[in-house]
Amino acid sequence: MSRRTSKCSVCTGDAGLVSEVNNLIASGVKLTKIHEAYPDLCSYPALSRHKNRCLTPQPVVETMSTIDECRLWLSRAHSTFQSAVAIGDNRGASQAIGTATKTLTKLIDLEEKEQEAKEAATPDDDPSRPISIAYLDQQLKEFMAKRDAENDGVMQKAQTLIMAEPAFSTIIFAIWSNRALLPILLEGVIQSANTN
Ligand SMILES: [Zn+2]
Repeated sequence: MSRRTSKCSVCTGDAGLVSEVNNLIASGVKLTKIHEAYPDLCSYPALSRHKNRCLTPQPVVETMSTIDECRLWLSRAHSTFQSAVAIGDNRGASQAIGTATKTLTKLIDLEEKEQEAKEAATPDDDPSRPISIAYLDQQLKEFMAKRDAENDGVMQKAQTLIMAEPAFSTIIFAIWSNRALLPILLEGVIQSANTN
């Protein structure tokens, strides 16, 4: 049970009186009755504060997080393992490994959950937001959809031709190294379209 470092006006009063009052409070005697019995000890609100703050166990403020606890046990398992190996205690060493494995699994699980919670709490446009595979997939899907919608999907069509028609790649390389080929090829394309 942890107590506040600064003592209240009741606690700092006459020690014998305080102990009597504390006993009465602990036995469940109503504060109004206690205050009636010891009117000069303190005010009613001060008595109430004393009961709630000084006599009620305070929650431990600095609780170790489960993750920190896991890390601590992990380092203990590590030193146990090292000592066991040093003295040739194979059984102790394998027990330490077992403990470490269990703790590590829990730690990874906890850290993943913490990361997920962090991600959920960070807005999508926050540059510090960690990038997930799902997010990248979504970005790629959006980019492809936008690309395929532009210019009647010429990029997507060109890509399909590159994959399906090796001759198309040859034509691209030829134009790339000699742009004068382009109007000649275009003329051929137009003529061929007119004769069809
Ligand atoms: Zn007190």
